Amino acid sequence: METLLHEQVHLWQQNFGKDPVKPGRVYHNKEFVEKCESLGLHPKIGEGYHLKLADGPFEILMRELGITPPDLSSNRRTSTGTGSSGCWILWARSPRASRR
Ligand SMILES: [Zn+2]
Repeated sequence: METLLHEQVHLWQQNFGKDPVKPGRVYHNKEFVEKCESLGLHPKIGEGYHLKLADGPFEILMRELGITPPDLSSNRRTSTGTGSSGCWILWARSPRASRR
C-alpha cells in the first residue's frame, strides 16, 4: 500500500506538481518528498526508498481499513529485489491472516 501511494504521488507530481521529473533529473526531488511527507510516507530524497514505516495520515487510513502496521522486528520481509519501498508487502498482507 505504501508503494501504491508512492507511485500515486509520482502521478500527482507529473500532472499537478510545480517541479515534475524531467529526463536526467533527480527522480525523487524535494517537491516529491514534501508531498510524501504530508501523507505520512518517508522516501529518501534522490533514492526514493522509504527510510521508515509510513505513519501520519497514511497510518490513520490503514487503521480505518483494519490494516495494522507490519511487525518489522520479526524481519520476515519477503525478498522483493530493490523495489522503492520494502514495507509494502507487509502492509498489503491480509489482516485476516494474522488473526488466525
Ligand atoms: Zn518513486
